[in-house]
This record gives sequence, structure tokens and C-alpha cells, in this order.
Amino acid sequence: MNVLLTGGAGFIGSHTAIILSERGHDIVVLDNFSNSKPSVIQRIERITGRSCPCEEADLTDAEAVDAVFRRWKFDAVIHFAGFKAVGESVEKPLEYYENNLIGTLKLMEAMTNHDVGDIIFSSSATVYRGDSPAPYYEDYPLGASNPYGWTKVMIERMLRDVCAADSRWAAVLLRYFNPIGAHPSGLLGEDPNGIPNNLLPYVAKVAVGELPVVRIFGDDYDTPDGTGVRDYIHVMDLARGHLLALDYIRTRRGCFSFNLGTGKGYSVKEVVAAFERACGKPLPSRIDPRRAGDLPEIYANVDLARKELGFSAEFGLSEMCADAWNWQRRSSSASEGL
Ligand code: NAD
Ligand code: UDP
Repeated sequence: MNVLLTGGAGFIGSHTAIILSERGHDIVVLDNFSNSKPSVIQRIERITGRSCPCEEADLTDAEAVDAVFRRWKFDAVIHFAGFKAVGESVEKPLEYYENNLIGTLKLMEAMTNHDVGDIIFSSSATVYRGDSPAPYYEDYPLGASNPYGWTKVMIERMLRDVCAADSRWAAVLLRYFNPIGAHPSGLLGEDPNGIPNNLLPYVAKVAVGELPVVRIFGDDYDTPDGTGVRDYIHVMDLARGHLLALDYIRTRRGCFSFNLGTGKGYSVKEVVAAFERACGKPLPSRIDPRRAGDLPEIYANVDLARKELGFSAEFGLSEMCADAWNWQRRSSSASEGL
């Protein structure tokens, strides 16, 4: 298949590009590099040994997006592009609504105009309202507590409505839990700008000495060791989920939602301990107050993805940490010119 990957130079998009290309799909990346680097494209090509055409364009620019659809004939779109920082979305809601919603709207208009109806969308566990107990099931009530989350809820709604209105459309909404890890080559991984918000990249930067101490946000939750529990999934497993989703909608019409996680929850302390084993040294940590808006325990029920997509995660927490460490170590020494 010819597949367009919006945001394909980003963390999850680049790993998915590799899996798709290795399985024989032809891919085109569309990215404006607002949160990624053009050098990622060369790395994808180096790992796969295949070319990875890239269109530098902004999804909110209807003319530019249409031009991409005129140049290529796509069978399907995987839509990763969007802003994703929860805290920033609270400070700059209009930027989030514009980039995520208008970007998706322009993409869907171009798809309609060029007769492309198959789309896989990067949704998130954040679309669950959060007042139902873990594990999270796909039919739990939806809602959000910040503008980023609302953009995901609204985009899911847009896709559901279009699929209901037009039988040529098929959408898979993949609700990612906590993607971490990196490509096993160490050539690709998560490279956030500035100080990371997420646990894993933060811990990795403590391990290379770029940050002084791991801050554990609260140890008085009602969880086995008092720290927050999340469902971490290796980014290569997540990438494989997209391949299965592409197969799934080839023969179906309509809108389908699936959780992509491992179905297992790990606490912050368990993650830090696993990373210490991966990097072979103890890491300084301290207990800080709870982070505003955090829930105690979030993990997926993964039965539906297993039954419908045939998806189950292969990698455990130790592989996730080993690959994240391999990537962090290499990228830190590269930036020091070693
Ligand atoms: P990322 O920031 O690494 O990748 C997103 C890519 O989209 C970047 O390369 C960025 O330059 C590009 N982009 C953003 N706005 C664009 C626009 N208007 N036009 C063209 N390109 C644009 O993020 P990621 O972690 O790879 O996440 C990919 C998707 O998955 C996002 O939609 C995100 O919300 C969703 N998601 C991520 C996580 C996570 O923890 N990483 C969890 C759940 C859902
Ligand atoms: N967390 C932490 N210290 C950090 C970052 C995160 O203790 O520096 C905790 C956070 O409270 C949550 C878990 O780690 O319990 C995962 O947080 P992350 O931001 O990675 O993901 P999300 O909140 O989106 O699940």
C-alpha cells in the first residue's frame, strides 16, 4: 500500500515508518518539523535501506496539503501530526485547537477531494474521562481535563461522524497508553525539546547526568507502593499495532477504537528500578508533591485489540528501558561530539 504518515518524523511516526517500510509498504512522510528534525528521515532510510520520501508541509495549510495529495496517490493515511504537551495546551489552548483540529480538518478535506477514505488516528488514553476504574475499556465514557485531551476527543468525534455519513470512510482510532523505548539500533528514539515532562525521558536524562534527580510525583496514592501506575508500551510494539490496523480497515468500513497498551500497570518506583537495572547504576530520586491532574492508576484492557487486530505486546518493561537507555546514551555522547 501507499501510505501517508502525517507527523512521520516524530517519535511514534518514525518507528511506524520503519515497520511499514520493512513490511513492503511505500510510505510518504508529511511533517513541518515543528517537533522533530529532518535528519530523522535519513535515519529511517539508513535503518530500512529503502527511500523515505518526505514532504515538508504544514497540515493547517490547505493548499500545501492538497498539493501533496496531487503529487502522490495514497491508499491510506496514518495521522500522527499534532501538538502533544498537556501543560502547554493549558497555557496555549488556541494553538492546540488550531494545530490539532484545523490540521485534521484540512487533512480530511484533502482525503475527501482525492478519494482516500482509510485513516488511522493517533488517539490517546487521555480521551477516557478518568472517573472509571482501571483497566480502561474502549466503551468507557469519554472526556478530558485539558485542551490537548479535548482535541483528541473532538478529532475522534469528527472521524466517527464522517464514517457515519459516508460509507467510503474507514477509521481506526488507536488509543495509545504510555509509549516509551526506542528503536533497538539506538538510531531513533524520543527526543523532546527542553526538560521532558514525561517520566521515561526524564529518568533517562538523569541517567546520563543531564538532570540531577528523578522527581517522583507523589507516593501517597492508593496503589501498591503509593506511586502512580501507568501502562507503558514499547514504541516498536505500538508501531506494529499500526500495521495491523492498516490490514484491519482494508476490508471494513466504519469507525473502530482500540486500546494499545500491554494491559499491565507499573508504578513510578518500578519504572525507576527497571531503568537502574538497564543502565547499571543507582539513580538519585526524591519524592515531590503530586502533579496536578494526575490519576493514581491508568492501564488498558487489551482484549479488543487482541481479538480484532491480533495485537499483543511482545516487549516488557526491561526491554523498553534497555532500548531507551541505548538511545539516550548514544544521543547524549553524539551531542558531546564523542
Ligand atoms: P511527536 O511530537 O514526536 O510527533 C508529532 C510530529 O508531528 C512531529 O514530527 C511534528 O513536527 C509534526 N507536526 C505537528 N504539527 C504539525 C502540523 N501542523 N503539520 C505537519 N506536521 C506537524 O509526537 P509523538 O509522541 O510521535 O506523537 C504522535 C501522535 O501520537 C500525536 O498525535 C500524539 O498526540 C499522539 N500520542 C502520543 C503519546 C505519547 O506519549 N508520545 C501518547 C498518546 C498519543
Ligand atoms: N511522573 C513522575 N515524575 C516525572 C514525570 C512523571 O513521577 O518527572 C509520574 C506521573 O505522576 C505519572 C507517571 O510518572 O504517575 C507517568 O507520567 P507521564 O507524564 O510519563 O505520563 P502520563 O501522565 O501521561 O501518564
